[in-house]
Amino acid sequence: MIRRWIAFLACGVAGGAAGWWLASREGLAWGLLLGAAAWQLIDSWYARRMLAWLRSEQSNETPLLMAGAQPSLPGVWGEAADRIRRLLKNSHQQYSESQARLDEFLAALQASPSGVVLLDDEGRIEWCNQTAAQHFGFDARRDLQQHIANLVRDPVFNAYMTAASFLHEVVILGSSSTPARPVRLSVHVHRYRKDRKLLLSRDITALEQAEVMRRDFVANVSHEIRTPLTVVSGFIETLQTLPLKKPERDRYLALMGLQSQRMQTLVDDLLTLSRLEGSPLPGAHEWTATASMFAQCEQEARALSSVIAAQGHELTFETGPACEIAGLRRELCSALSNLVNNAVRYTPGGGLIEIYWTMLADGRGMFCVRDSGPGIAAEHLPRLTERFYRVDRSRSRETGGTGLGLAIVKHVAQRHGAELRIESQLGKGSCFCIIFPAGRVRRQTQPA
Ligand code: ADP
Repeated sequence: MIRRWIAFLACGVAGGAAGWWLASREGLAWGLLLGAAAWQLIDSWYARRMLAWLRSEQSNETPLLMAGAQPSLPGVWGEAADRIRRLLKNSHQQYSESQARLDEFLAALQASPSGVVLLDDEGRIEWCNQTAAQHFGFDARRDLQQHIANLVRDPVFNAYMTAASFLHEVVILGSSSTPARPVRLSVHVHRYRKDRKLLLSRDITALEQAEVMRRDFVANVSHEIRTPLTVVSGFIETLQTLPLKKPERDRYLALMGLQSQRMQTLVDDLLTLSRLEGSPLPGAHEWTATASMFAQCEQEARALSSVIAAQGHELTFETGPACEIAGLRRELCSALSNLVNNAVRYTPGGGLIEIYWTMLADGRGMFCVRDSGPGIAAEHLPRLTERFYRVDRSRSRETGGTGLGLAIVKHVAQRHGAELRIESQLGKGSCFCIIFPAGRVRRQTQPA
C-alpha cells in the first residue's frame, strides 16, 4: 500500500515540477492535477488488464492458461493477481484430485459383479454400472435421470419400491429372461442420506439351479438307498419272526445280499463322482496305454455278459494303433468300462457289441462302444448324462444300474479335455464315443 502512495506522490510531484518549470506558480496546480490524473489513468489500465485476465481465466478455468496469462503487474495489482492465481491453482488441483478419486471409486463399482444403481430422492437413476445395465436392460448413459419405475416394469419390483420397506430383497426376472431361459435377479435397495437409494442386483439363476440340483440329488440318493434298505429290513424281520426252512432262508439271504450289493455299488459310484469333482485336473505326465485298458475292460465285459444273458453277447475289441492317453488310468478305465457295461446290460443276449480305438486324421483319439441294443429315443439324449436320469428304469435296476454311469463318463471326459458323443436311434442300437484332444494322445513307441 505504501508503494501505491509513493507512486501516487511521485506522479503528483513529477506533474507539479513540470508545471512549475513550464508556467511557474500557476503551472504548479495544473501540474499536480495532471500528475494525479496520469496516476489514475495508469492505475485504471492496470485494473482493466487484471479484469481482462480474470475474465479470460474464468472462461478457460485451466491453471496452465492462467500461468501463461499471469500478468506482470506492479504493486498491489500484481500481488492480488498472484494470490488469485495461486488460489485458482490450488482449487483446480483439489478438483482434479477429487475427480480422480471419484473415477477410481466408479471404476471399482463398475468392476463389481453385482449390479449397482444410484437413485436420487425421487427414484431417478443417477448412475449405474454395466452389470446393472445388463440386468435391467438400461442404457447406462441414455437412461440417466429416468425414473426407475418407468424402466423396470416387473410388478414385484414396483410393489417393492412403492412399499419402500427395504428390509429384505426381492427376486424378479431379468431383462434378458425368456420362458426357455429364465434369468432370476435378486434385488435389494439400501437407503442412504435420507432418501437416496443404492440398488444392488445379483444374478441368482445359477445359484437357484444349483440349489434345485442339490435338493434333487439328495432326494434321489435317499430314494435309491431307501428301496434296497426297505427290502433288506423286510427280510430281516421275516427271518426274525418266521421259522423258515433252510432253502427259504438261503433264498432270502441271497436276495438280501443282492440288495446290499446294490447299495454298495451306489455308494461306490457316489464316491467316484465326489472324487472326480473334488480332485485336481489330471495332468499330462501320466500316460496310459490304450491296449492295457482294453484288456482290463474286456475281462469285466465278458464276465458281466455271461451273468446278464444266458447266451452272452458277441463282443469285439479292436485296439487299433498302439497309443497312449495322458490322464489318470483309474478314471479312464472307469469311463470305458461304464460305457461297455451299459452296452452289455442294455443289449439283449446274442446282440453285437463293438469296442474300438481309432486315431482321427487331426491327431485326436477316439474310443467307441457301439451296440445293437434297443437304442434311445432322441428326446432322452440331451439328458442321459444327468445324475439318476434313466430311460429304461426297470432294465437299469434289474441289471444293477445306479443311474450314475454316464454322469461319471461325462465328468471323466471333461476332466481330460475330451468330448462325449452319443448317437442312438430307437431300435437301431447306440454308439457312445469319447474323443480325446490331440495333445493328450500319442502313438506308443515301445510295446507296453
Ligand atoms: P444306469 O446305471 O441306469 O445304466 P447310466 O447313467 O449309465 O445309468 O445310463 C443312463 C441311462 O441311459 C440308462 O438308464 C439307460 O436307460 C440309458 N442307456 C445307457 N447306455 C445305454 C445303451 N447302451 N443302450 C440303451 N440305453 C442306454
